Amino acid sequence: MVKFVFASRNEHKAREVAHILSRHLEFDFQVLTLDDIGYEGEIVEDGKTFEENAMIKAKAAFSKSGLPSFADDSGLEVDSLHGEPGIYSARYASLDGRDADDEDNNNLLLKNLEDKEDRTARFVSAVAFIDSDTSFVTRGEVEGEILHERQGSGGFGYDPLFFCREADCCFGILPPEEKNKISHRARAFESLAKILNKRYKK
Ligand code: IMP
Repeated sequence: MVKFVFASRNEHKAREVAHILSRHLEFDFQVLTLDDIGYEGEIVEDGKTFEENAMIKAKAAFSKSGLPSFADDSGLEVDSLHGEPGIYSARYASLDGRDADDEDNNNLLLKNLEDKEDRTARFVSAVAFIDSDTSFVTRGEVEGEILHERQGSGGFGYDPLFFCREADCCFGILPPEEKNKISHRARAFESLAKILNKRYKK
């Protein structure tokens, strides 16, 4: 049994990630979280890219636990907003440095796109991994458009405004098991799983 640490406290994401990994890893594994390894402080994500932020989190978990650790950092890039909200996706509508809620973020996105014709966008996810021998980052993307109004109430974050081209459906109404097959996070974690199978499968 190989133990990994997933450097996150987001329960929704931890469940989604465990589900994706269980479909692809070909050996017994267990995923611990920051709480499981007794990591108490906040990790300061002061990187300039998704990749840098993911690696900052993975390194923090590895330093504390000594166990192979991974972390993801994701967000939404909107072309006509020059890639915004990007690494600031979680706190897009925040004025005082604290995370704004999803409702505020979605409202601000709609407002900033009011006069834009081009509504193309993509979700991006970077997954960083580190153990005692190596460190690397994988990346996944899924392309789509920002709708003019919300559809559905499923998922989280910007899902109700993201129309996914490949699924021909808004992420807000796409069942989670369908989203987990094609999402940016699924793609980045699938790439991670392929590499982990080579390193850890006996
Ligand atoms: P995180 O780095 O995965 O925590 O994502 C940062 C922010 O990006 C989240 O708070 C959401 O606003 C947005 N985001 C990332 N992935 C998704 C997704 O799959 N659906 C909707 N929003 C997402």
